[in-house]
Amino acid sequence: MTKPLPDMMDCFAELIAIPSVSSTDPAFDMTNRAMVETLANWFGDLGMDTELIPVPGSAVEKFNLVARMGEGADGLVLSGHTDTVPYNEAGWSSDPFILTEREGRLYGLGTADMKSFFPLIIEAIRSLDLKSRDRPLVVLATADEESSMAGVRALQDSGMRLGRHALIGEPTGLVPVIKHKGILIEHIELTGQSGHSSDPSLGNNALEGMNRVMNRLLEWRKELQSSFHDSSFRVPVPTMNLGAIRGGDNPNRICASCELAMDIRLLPEMAVDEIRAALREKVAAAIEGSGLQLHFKEQHAGMGGMQTPADAEIVRVAEALSGRESATVAFGTEGPYLNAMGMQTVILGPGDIEVAHQTDEFVSMDRLQPMQKILEKMIQHFCLPS
Ligand SMILES: [Zn+2]
Repeated sequence: MTKPLPDMMDCFAELIAIPSVSSTDPAFDMTNRAMVETLANWFGDLGMDTELIPVPGSAVEKFNLVARMGEGADGLVLSGHTDTVPYNEAGWSSDPFILTEREGRLYGLGTADMKSFFPLIIEAIRSLDLKSRDRPLVVLATADEESSMAGVRALQDSGMRLGRHALIGEPTGLVPVIKHKGILIEHIELTGQSGHSSDPSLGNNALEGMNRVMNRLLEWRKELQSSFHDSSFRVPVPTMNLGAIRGGDNPNRICASCELAMDIRLLPEMAVDEIRAALREKVAAAIEGSGLQLHFKEQHAGMGGMQTPADAEIVRVAEALSGRESATVAFGTEGPYLNAMGMQTVILGPGDIEVAHQTDEFVSMDRLQPMQKILEKMIQHFCLPS
């Protein structure tokens, strides 16, 4: 016996009750199988063809879900990630896995970021008659957005064509977002030789080498900030943060190894691979002739920024439906990957980024109905004949 598709709030509560943490730390990382299977059943009930696509590279099972109604690559894609960040139960006022209403807010892990998006899509589809559609509708539910972006990377690598116009329901407080910065993270390791501090010829000081590296990087930061500028961002230049340093043990020992962890927040026009190559060249040049060994630990592939043209159809429609001008945000999304797959992507969702990744995460109830309306009208615009 198949259960009827639950109503919107029951769907929402059921998704919140399914733990789907993703983390680069295997101690916290979970499979998203139950989450994608539940969504696949629901979208199947709505008449969509569903496909669970395994995502490689994880110790536990991870899947992307693609649900389609109609053929072709010119339709609308509604996209969200199925995972949440890890949580600290002690800080929560109510169980993070029980959707809990208090004072006009719905609390739970992933309410804002971004499980609320899926029940709203379901409700929007349910309220429309899509038999007469002339362009396809695709719902995409990805794995591991919060950790490695492995889900959307696998989709991009597969060369799958999903659609032309994409909406990602990440928390933007119902404001359409068309631009965000990218990120490049680097761990720089220098290895020298320890020795008694009284005789520098006995060793090779990695800490002093790192000092030269840092000076060169900070000079380069000035160069980058004078070369790249985008006034639509609150911080209109690329940033570079030297975030952590570790090295040496004792004042009277020559420091044998030193590691620096840093990030660069890239403007959308800056290509991750080019900036990484330039960074590595500058670091190598800074310690040239020192005899120190240099190693880069690549733990994070980095991500380009997103930039969707302001005159794209999806942008104009999202602005009209939300009544808000498109904006930029500081956080990263799967948008650049979807754009690289031939889509034009807007980020627009009911949650607020300020409460995402926090204890007592919530979505305001008064955002749900407007978001559902935006989804209905968006599906009408892109998938039904005018
Ligand atoms: Zn998110």
